[in-house]
Amino acid sequence: MRVCRIKKMRRNLMSFLKFLIMSLFVVLLTVFVFKLVRPLTLHSEKDSNGDYKTIQLPLKNSIPKRIDWHDYEKIRIEKDRIGIGEHGKPAHLSSSEKDLEDSLYKVNGFNGALSDKISLRRSLPDIRNVGCQKKNYSSELPTVSVVVPFHNEHWSTLLRTAYSVIDRSPPQLLKEIILVDDFSSKEFLKDKLDDFVRANLSKVQVVHLPARQGLILARLAGAKIATGEVLLFLDSHTEANVNWLPPLLDPIAEDYRTCVCPFIDVIAHDTFEYRAQDEGARGAFDWEFYYKRLPLLPEDKKHPTEPFKSPVMAGGLFAISAKWFWELGGYDEGLDIWGGEQYELSFKIWQCGGTMFDAPCSRVGHIYRKFAPFPNPGRGDFVGKNYKRVAEVWMDEYKEYLYNRKPHYRNIDPGDLTEQKSIRINLNCKPFKWFIKEVAFDLPKKYPPVEPKDFAFGEIRSVAAPELCIDTRMYGGNKRFGVDICVSDNSGNAKTIQHEQQFQLSWARDIRPKGRTMCWDVADPNDKAPVSLFSCHGYGGNQLWRYKPDEMWLVHGGNPRCLDLDPAKKIIFVSKCDSKSETQKWKIEDVNLKQLENWDDPSKLLDLID
Ligand code: UDP
Ligand code: MN
Repeated sequence: MRVCRIKKMRRNLMSFLKFLIMSLFVVLLTVFVFKLVRPLTLHSEKDSNGDYKTIQLPLKNSIPKRIDWHDYEKIRIEKDRIGIGEHGKPAHLSSSEKDLEDSLYKVNGFNGALSDKISLRRSLPDIRNVGCQKKNYSSELPTVSVVVPFHNEHWSTLLRTAYSVIDRSPPQLLKEIILVDDFSSKEFLKDKLDDFVRANLSKVQVVHLPARQGLILARLAGAKIATGEVLLFLDSHTEANVNWLPPLLDPIAEDYRTCVCPFIDVIAHDTFEYRAQDEGARGAFDWEFYYKRLPLLPEDKKHPTEPFKSPVMAGGLFAISAKWFWELGGYDEGLDIWGGEQYELSFKIWQCGGTMFDAPCSRVGHIYRKFAPFPNPGRGDFVGKNYKRVAEVWMDEYKEYLYNRKPHYRNIDPGDLTEQKSIRINLNCKPFKWFIKEVAFDLPKKYPPVEPKDFAFGEIRSVAAPELCIDTRMYGGNKRFGVDICVSDNSGNAKTIQHEQQFQLSWARDIRPKGRTMCWDVADPNDKAPVSLFSCHGYGGNQLWRYKPDEMWLVHGGNPRCLDLDPAKKIIFVSKCDSKSETQKWKIEDVNLKQLENWDDPSKLLDLID
């Protein structure tokens, strides 16, 4: 009896469980169908002719479709264009136009006369990663206001910027282009520009500022009157390339707390050739606030068409949702003329909960000037003041690294910072240490806040010929340097103009004349390869050197060869290491043996704050 009842109970339990599993399955299926199929469902409605038309259901709370945004008709028309500078090909003026070329070079820092010969609507080469041609983006992208500040920009480069945006943006996404004239003095940038724009460019408006305000306030002036959902800032001598807009807008459509930068290509200042600058890199800075770049991460390299996170923007070219820009307080209005604004915005985007990407499928060319043609606006060290404002508001204890390298910043008055500090508090932004640890995590290894000590320093004296020291002012022909009579008395004091005999085997594992950023470099893989000076690049390779104190060798490179001497000719070279050779032995004045123990892992040397 008992057994029977237990059996019955078990059966009941089993059918209940079955029922439960079935119900769960039905619920999951319903959710799945609702989520995935709903955006694709169409329903019918009568149009004005009484015919049925299919229209899409509202897509709120559903996954938008992804579509191909390329304008194939325009791409086809561009392909057929012929003429000077078309397809971004390098161009030249004839020698009879040399005088005009020189005079416009002087006022622009680039070949303005050549620019005038090239169509305002010239074609560009599609140099994107081929995968970009097949990429789809959300069908529901936000609208854009393009803001272009300019101060004394050249006519044709300014208008080519506007035309490239108009010709290569989907019209329904481009709300307007706002050209902000930062009190230019060139006559043609006044009425003539206004008239041209009114007659030819319906989406463009020009705003003339009543005084020189600098690029930061000029961008802000444009942003304040912009009506698009996204603000997109460009320099006034740029050219937007094929399908540039959707890759910038798509990440913003996904999350409005996002800023996206295009890849910046090079428009050569002399020939106007359009070309890539490199395969992309992550933005960073050193502790004097020079803009630097960090390598892509391995996972970024695996997806060459996907946006990747970048710690710091290059500055001039980026898209950000207007909502997020203004939540962050825009730019700090206390930043004068230019400088530091790219750090201010980048730091606050990250520290206050946003994200910054570089989008490889969006490319915009930029003319890098040969020289800056404008006089200093005569407002003292405005860059130093800007840097100090950024450091004081956003960098916490890390500001000290900046001040240690530029002690005079300590005495600059940054002005009133209460508003900026309150933005940081109100948005509950994270500390700078978080930014360094989580976003710019590889920056301190490449640009250490505190420079580690040298492995060795001082004069480098031959053992075979003890009167001879390495001297980077003594040349053996073809830029190679050699040795000369030692000028120091071993205390390292004596130095004359004609000699350079003091060296650092630096923590970056290169050898440089004391205090300089030129490094010993061997490019030739053959025996007896010469050593010459080259700008230090900090990543080993041709500039990698190691001192072996026991053998007294200076060993070059990963495929090791030893520094050797021909005392009669006073030349040096690298050749196969040979323990019997006396001419391969060198005595460095001051060797830090403890430091040399860390040669294999220089990151151990970094004296960082935790
Ligand atoms: N600009 C400006 N006011 C200034 C300085 C620059 O409106 O006081 C504009 C300039 O015309 C350009 C942008 O800001 O469109 C960036 O300046 P620039 O191209 O000279 O900087 P670079 O690209 O050389 O760093
Ligand atoms: Mn520029």
